[in-house]
Amino acid sequence: MELLRPSSVEEAAAALGNGSVALAGGTELVPLLRDGLARADTLVHVSDVVPRGIDARKIGAGATLAELEVDPQVPQALREACSLAASPQLRSMGSIGGNLLQATRCWYWRLGFDCWLHGGEKCFAKDGAHREHAIFGNDLCASAHPSDIAAALIALGAKMRTTKRELPVAELYRLPTADDRNVTTLAPDELILELDVPAPEASTYLKAMDRRKWSFALVGVAAARSAAEVRIVLAGVAPIPWTLDSAAALDDSTPLPGTAYKVEVARALVRRALEGIGAPAR
Ligand SMILES: Cc1cc2nc3c(=O)[nH]c(=O)nc-3n(C[C@H](O)[C@H](O)[C@H](O)COP(=O)(O)OP(=O)(O)OC[C@H]3O[C@@H](n4cnc5c(N)ncnc54)[C@H](O)[C@@H]3O)c2cc1C
Ligand code: SF4
Repeated sequence: MELLRPSSVEEAAAALGNGSVALAGGTELVPLLRDGLARADTLVHVSDVVPRGIDARKIGAGATLAELEVDPQVPQALREACSLAASPQLRSMGSIGGNLLQATRCWYWRLGFDCWLHGGEKCFAKDGAHREHAIFGNDLCASAHPSDIAAALIALGAKMRTTKRELPVAELYRLPTADDRNVTTLAPDELILELDVPAPEASTYLKAMDRRKWSFALVGVAAARSAAEVRIVLAGVAPIPWTLDSAAALDDSTPLPGTAYKVEVARALVRRALEGIGAPAR
C-alpha cells in the first residue's frame, strides 16, 4: 500500500478515488483496513492540507475532537458531544471530518457478515442481537448511527464546505436504499474542508451509554434553540442522525423487540435537553 503526502487540497482531491482513500487521524480507517472492511491501494494523508483551525463559527475539518471540546468559541452542544465521545487518546487523534464519516458499529457488519449493508440479502441484526440498534429508519438496515458530533452539528444548523459543494450537514446523510446502500452522499474523490457552525442562544448534548466513558451512544440527544426555532437531533437511533420535529415524534418510532427501551430513554433525554436549553416541552 502506498502513502501519499499531498502538498495542497487540489493535489489531495485529484489523487482520491479509484482505490485511493483519504487518511486523517486514522482511528477509524486503520482498523477498517486491518479487518478487511475497507480497501485502499493508496492512502492520501490529508491532515497537512485540510484546514484545522477554529475561528468563531468556522471549524476546519482537520480539527481534533480534543481541540473542539475545550474551545470556548465552540457551541456547548458540540463541545459536550466531543467530550463524551470515545477516549482522550482517540479524541486527540480523531478529526471532526473523519468522525462524520465513521462506519456503523453494528457487530455483524464489523465482523464481516454478508449482511444487507455489505451487499447481502438479509439484515442479521433484526432477528439476532440488536439491543444497540435502531428505532427509526430500520426497514432495510437496523444499524444505529454512532456519531455524537453529527447529531450536535445538525441540531446547530451547521453547514459544510467540501471540494465540490456547500451543503447542510444533514444532507451529508441518506437512508440506504435497495439501489444505493451508501449512508452518505460524499463522492469517493470529495474532501470535507470546513464547517460553518452558527452560535445558538442555547444548546446541549446528552448521551445515554453503557459506561460513563468511552462508549458509543445508546441514545444521544442534541438540542439547540435560536430565536423561536428549536432543533432536536438524535444519535444511536437510526442508520443516520435522526431529526425529531418534536418529542411526540417518538411515538412514530418502529423499535425492534430489543430496542424498545431506547424509546423511553430518548423520551427522558429529550425532555431533559429541552429543559436544559429553556425550550418549552413539545
Ligand atoms: C474505540 C472507539 C470509540 C469511539 N467512540 C466514539 C463515540 O463515542 N462517539 C463518536 O462520535 N465517535 C466515536 N468514535 C469515532 C472517532 O471519533 C472517529 O474514529 C474519529 O473521529 C475519526 O477521525 P479520524 O481523523 O481518525 O478519521 P480517519 O480514520 O482518518 O478517517 C475516517 C473516515 O473519514 C474519511 N475522511 C477523513 N477525513 C476526511 C476529510 N477531510 N474529507 C473526506 N473524508 C475524510 C476517511 O477516508 C475515512 O473513511 C470512536 C472510535 C473508536 C475507535
Ligand atoms: S443492521 Fe445493517 S449493518 Fe447490521 S446486520 Fe443489519 S444490515 Fe447489516
